[in-house]
Amino acid sequence: DDADVARAADLLARAQRVTVLTGAGVSTDSGIPDFRGPQGVWTRNPAAERLSTLQAYVADPEVRRESWRQRAVHPVWEARPGPAHKALVDLERSGRLLALLTQNIDELHQAAGSSPDLVVELHGTVHHTQCLSCGARAPMAETLARVAAGEEDPPCALCGGILKSATISFGQELDAGVIMRARRAAVEADVLLAAGTSLGVHPAAGVVDLAAAAGAAVVIVNAEPTPYDDVATVVLRGGTGELLPRLVAGVDG
Ligand code: NAD
Repeated sequence: DDADVARAADLLARAQRVTVLTGAGVSTDSGIPDFRGPQGVWTRNPAAERLSTLQAYVADPEVRRESWRQRAVHPVWEARPGPAHKALVDLERSGRLLALLTQNIDELHQAAGSSPDLVVELHGTVHHTQCLSCGARAPMAETLARVAAGEEDPPCALCGGILKSATISFGQELDAGVIMRARRAAVEADVLLAAGTSLGVHPAAGVVDLAAAAGAAVVIVNAEPTPYDDVATVVLRGGTGELLPRLVAGVDG
């Protein structure tokens, strides 16, 4: 309710170092469905989870072909930043933002104007591809052009290996430097703000416990309950597009 919004806004206003963790729920207003929400891709079609599993992707060419077919028409290519992304740009302008940790792969924080130096992409980006054999990265647009031209499972142009989006699938480890940077930002924060995430994916969700253990206040903004709600100082149940602008409105520079 309004009192909780005011309490959370006050925590942000008094903080000097805010670390933010975002998930798919900051991008649903931009037309990109989440995975686990009521309208989520996996809620509606549990079999789709296989497409995001490294082992299936490597072992089964049909998983790769289906993955490229879906990738080619994905709403992420048309998506524009929404009010939640913009609110986090305003939070940065106030001088309090230590890091913007995101589980999203859509680059909408950067598109909104968040400085790339502060955005930590825990699960990578869909705007590049990475070869699973030689590690070479290339713009996603190059591969999608090959898919549009009829290649159903385009191999790496350099070594012939299997190409995948430069995102973290199930069964794939996060980049060690990236997760270290995220953990440091959690430990150094006075406030950890988690927004639009089910907090069900590890190690990403673990930054909430780390921040709390190091003495940070935890603010959770999400449409549904999360496993960390009882660790939080304030839980706001509702839309990120409505709530984040309200939280940040009271924070000045
Ligand atoms: P998730 O799908 O597990 O959880 C999203 C949460 O956001 C849900 O609890 C849902 O109820 C909530 N939510 C949805 N819309 C909301 C809104 N407008 N306001 C408030 N809450 C809202 O997503 P996750 O926790 O981010 O993790 C899933 C994984 O899926 C991540 O690893 C991420 O890489 C990937 N993913 C990314 C995108 C993207 O880049 N936009 C989209 C889907 C999934």
